[in-house]
Amino acid sequence: MSNTYRIAVFHGDGIGPEIMAPTLKLLRGLNHDFAFTDCAAGAAAYLDQGTDLPDASLEAARAADAILLSALGDPAVRFPDGTEMTPQIDIRIALDLYAGVRPVRVVPGMRTPLATDQPIDFVLIRESTEGLFHTQGKGLVERDHAEETLRLTRRTTEKVCRFAFDLAQTRKAAGHMGRVTSVDKANVFRAFAFWREIFDGVAADYPDLSADHAYVDAMALWMVTRPEAWDVMVTENMFGDILSDLGAGLMGGLGMAPSADIGDDHALFQPCHGSAPDIAGKGIANPFAMILSAGMMLDWLGLRHGDDALIRDAVRVQAAVDACLAAGEVTGDLGGSLSCAEAGAAVMARL
Ligand code: ATP
Ligand code: MG
Repeated sequence: MSNTYRIAVFHGDGIGPEIMAPTLKLLRGLNHDFAFTDCAAGAAAYLDQGTDLPDASLEAARAADAILLSALGDPAVRFPDGTEMTPQIDIRIALDLYAGVRPVRVVPGMRTPLATDQPIDFVLIRESTEGLFHTQGKGLVERDHAEETLRLTRRTTEKVCRFAFDLAQTRKAAGHMGRVTSVDKANVFRAFAFWREIFDGVAADYPDLSADHAYVDAMALWMVTRPEAWDVMVTENMFGDILSDLGAGLMGGLGMAPSADIGDDHALFQPCHGSAPDIAGKGIANPFAMILSAGMMLDWLGLRHGDDALIRDAVRVQAAVDACLAAGEVTGDLGGSLSCAEAGAAVMARL
């Protein structure tokens, strides 16, 4: 008996709908029972309904088994106070999606700026609900002085560390190192000594994995000089924000970077890039980050529901994208000549 998986789908703004179309086509072509619900959010939703995240959309996301979210927002459409819309952050907070998962993989055909032919395959876990983003939008600004707060809680730090170790364990079974590196700045901030103590406590529960620490500044260097040395990294919100863009850079740009935001009860899958208004409507956007994000969704659903067919398809989707990269069946941003739809069709052909 196969499960029906309810997927909340946010088509988004700019290139969002363009990259979502081939992704849904691919998912529909797999042998699973998905029930897709279309949800509005972002700039188009704001113009249409006066809110960038309608209640109905948030509730549909909450009710779904997984959330598939395309690129949202448009720099030309802002709130009256001039701030940008970030409904994805509101969803992250509302559903307590504390673990931001950012895989960094470089395979042949990717345009990495690195002078290496070693395969690169590590995962950065970014705590996504507290840290240096705690006072986001509520910081203190006076004439001669401004302040923001770094907040780490034992509960969330422990959960995100445990998430990292669980992931390293799953990856170890697939042949990876079985190593978790905590990235912090414990030499300067007492809060990170607290983080380390919690990380070490969780590490003790995983005796067959190795655990170590690195300072974030050193890690920025090592991600460039020794990118093959890492397996799973876990870090605070702001450090993770910065390092994940560095990771996207290693992959040759945003068009290749997928992501997941995962909590205890919900998970959201989204490409790292924005809505790329400069190329919207031209049909040339790279759909691979969106497709790889959908692949991460298959893997997460499969693990959660004990559905091995989903896990196998997650592996197949990634392999199909890798094969397209190796064969140069790619869009213009990667030096190819395929349209967005053609690149999606190329992945499906490889499947
Ligand atoms: P946001 O603030 O929403 O993250 P951003 O300012 O970081 O947006 P993006 O929308 O991510 O900007 O676009 C940055 C650049 O990368 C643009 O030149 C855009 O065309 C390009 N880009 C982003 N995503 C893709 C994609 N999927 N395919 C091709 N080019 C892309
Ligand atoms: Mg951006």
